[in-house]
Amino acid sequence: MGQRVGILAIQGDVEAHARVLRVLGVEVVAVRHAFDLDGLDALVLPGGESTTIAKGLERLGLYEPLEAFAASGKRVLGTCAGAVLLAREVENHPVRSLGLLDVVALRNAYGSQVDSFEAPADETAPGFEGLSCVFIRAPRLLDPGEGVEVLARVDGWPVAVRQRNVIATTFHPELTSDTRVHACLLGDGPA
Ligand code: GLN
Repeated sequence: MGQRVGILAIQGDVEAHARVLRVLGVEVVAVRHAFDLDGLDALVLPGGESTTIAKGLERLGLYEPLEAFAASGKRVLGTCAGAVLLAREVENHPVRSLGLLDVVALRNAYGSQVDSFEAPADETAPGFEGLSCVFIRAPRLLDPGEGVEVLARVDGWPVAVRQRNVIATTFHPELTSDTRVHACLLGDGPA
């Protein structure tokens, strides 16, 4: 049986993630309610605007169900705004986060939309070599705890991290044709 993967569909680049996941052959489910999480193997928190997504999470009562989903060991991938929402703490116009990843997320650390850029990872875990990273108003991940594994760095900063079943990237893996980050969500990542 193929995997069923949810994408939090409050705001952000939901469709781009869906496209990559379909390329990898999984069934994609839009998540807007707690009951949408039933039967999912994994979940994506997409990039977008973390303040807007956080308001949606509050309105829809999704904080606790998402925390329980991750606590049950299901894999979760947060990209950009999604990484902000996973952090234990958020700086620079904080939003309520899920606290599933032992890092501090500094929002908009690279400047505004016009400062978007693409850069190759300069240091990676085996299997992530040559990763190209698209940054759009990206956060920076500071003060990673002991349990946080850095899978890729750009300019020395962690841009892809993993803590047990929780994965985060500060860049947008759904905007390149490289499917390795999403494969990692499906359980096929760096050992
Ligand atoms: N700067 C945005 C935020 O913190 C994230 C941008 C993005 O997801 N591309 O909400």
